[in-house]
Amino acid sequence: MSDSSDFVSSEMPAPAVDTATIGLFADASPVTTQAYQVLARKWRPRDFSTLVGQEHVVRALSHALEQQRLHHAYLFTGTRGVGKTTLARILAKALNCETGITAHPCGQCQTCREIDGGRFVDLLEVDAATNTRVDEMRQLLENAVYAPTAGRYKVYVIDEVHMLSNAAFNAMLKTLEEPPPHIKFILATTDPQKIPVTVLSRCLQFNLKSMLPTAIVSHLQTILAQEQIQAEREALKLLSHAANGSMRDALSLLDQAIAYSAGVVTTDAVQGMLGAIDQTYLHRLLAALAAADGVALMAIADEMTLRSLSYRQALGDLATLLQRIALAQTIPQAIPEEWADAPTIAAFATQFSAEDIQLYYQIVLHGRNDLSLAPDELTGFSMTLLRLLAFKPSAVGNLPAADIATTPLPKKVASPTVPPHAISASAGQVSQPAAGPQHTRASASLSAQSVSTEMPVASATVALPVVAPPAPASAPLLPGQADSIDWPTLVLQLNVTGLAKQLATQSELLSVQGSQYVIRTAAKPLSQGSPVEKLRQALSEYYQQPIRLQVEVGEVQSQTAQHRDETARSERQQAAEQAIQQDPLVQGLLAEFDATIVPNSIRPV
Ligand SMILES: [Zn+2]
Repeated sequence: MSDSSDFVSSEMPAPAVDTATIGLFADASPVTTQAYQVLARKWRPRDFSTLVGQEHVVRALSHALEQQRLHHAYLFTGTRGVGKTTLARILAKALNCETGITAHPCGQCQTCREIDGGRFVDLLEVDAATNTRVDEMRQLLENAVYAPTAGRYKVYVIDEVHMLSNAAFNAMLKTLEEPPPHIKFILATTDPQKIPVTVLSRCLQFNLKSMLPTAIVSHLQTILAQEQIQAEREALKLLSHAANGSMRDALSLLDQAIAYSAGVVTTDAVQGMLGAIDQTYLHRLLAALAAADGVALMAIADEMTLRSLSYRQALGDLATLLQRIALAQTIPQAIPEEWADAPTIAAFATQFSAEDIQLYYQIVLHGRNDLSLAPDELTGFSMTLLRLLAFKPSAVGNLPAADIATTPLPKKVASPTVPPHAISASAGQVSQPAAGPQHTRASASLSAQSVSTEMPVASATVALPVVAPPAPASAPLLPGQADSIDWPTLVLQLNVTGLAKQLATQSELLSVQGSQYVIRTAAKPLSQGSPVEKLRQALSEYYQQPIRLQVEVGEVQSQTAQHRDETARSERQQAAEQAIQQDPLVQGLLAEFDATIVPNSIRPV
């Protein structure tokens, strides 16, 4: 705090004593005696008109006060830092102001000033979090029978009232049921569900809202103007988001930011102070995701690593960004135009579907929670990005399922790192389904980094990595009898491409006599000319001796390499589907969204 002393202003009110203390109920926060008064205390609202963001409560209380319809117990609920105790103090003033019970306490009379200074004897503030015991509550309530010393009402403000023990609640209940006329209870809590119904039913309940970031920004601007401190609007936005709906936190952060930036509160300084992520990283991540560009995605992650950015923060900020995109999709006008990234958010809102964004949000939240479980944070972060990529829904989901099931993948989609076959089948197994489970397991242990290089960049399908072991390097077979040669396996080891490869994979071996090979294919265009010659050359090269090749046209009876490939593919498909269905995250998503996996939308890679 010493470096903040240059902000001392001569017109500052005397240091406030936070609360009147009695007996065991000493205020937990020590009385501050230093010259600099923190903004949250200095700018604590002193009447209803300066209370930010709780107009609905103010209106109801003002009416009640004006019409003298006073309840004996009030319950203020709401998250921390939204102004519950502030409101309680203003209400205490309204009840005790020497000008009479009023919605506009004068702020000038001795009572008002004493309440503002926290010195009023008939305002008893208790923090239930530190005074939960029943005898403490009894002692407090025993004093309730005595008339107020100075004021009209004895006002008990019990903060965090849900922390009281059951016995303490019971002790309080008696007084709540038959309160002396000079007693007012103001209970405050962040967790009203923990309060017994018997207590709740005797209170007039007001729910205070979380502060909207825009309300916080404008309040901070008002304060800064009066403190004559310059600040960049963008910096205040960052602070308001970090404050998470709490005005008290926003003011504390502003205090820090003022000290941190020593002068003008700049965006850079606040980003540094909050460890905030430069939003452009997140924008680029989403752009890469929209393009299904896994390589770019991983490159950005690497960049973030070099900058030593916090992954937890990054995922948190990404979730916030996704929430804004979802908002822009649903209620476009809810995105304030003055937001620097409003146009970017609007653009993303059209690039992704609402379902995408909802799903991404869940994945990012799960990923953030799971960071601590990951071997290291980078792995956890990369894995989350890969999940986002894997779940990139695409046009595939819109195709009729049957089409996808029967249409072979285009060649370029097949990952070059996964051989179509890694099977060494012996003769006699030709008609058996070729691939065993060990060839088709979905890899859960595949490291994020190694996946990035074989990311299906072109295809935006739901994909789980499936690895097959590399083909065993088998020695070239010697020419022999047709039934001792596994033609579908053999052709995959031949150095053929294009039409010759088509011929090789769509044919069956009819006979072998010495170096004379006879094969059959149903595809007539492949049965003559260069495909045949190229396949012959490849066979000669394979056997390292001249081979003669004859091609017949007719219906193929046995399994071809292509058939086998399809079988293997379908088994890989099943394995991938199974892996997807057994993935705990997916199960969570299915349950949460009451969703189903689009049949055949899962593709092994
Ligand atoms: Zn007054």
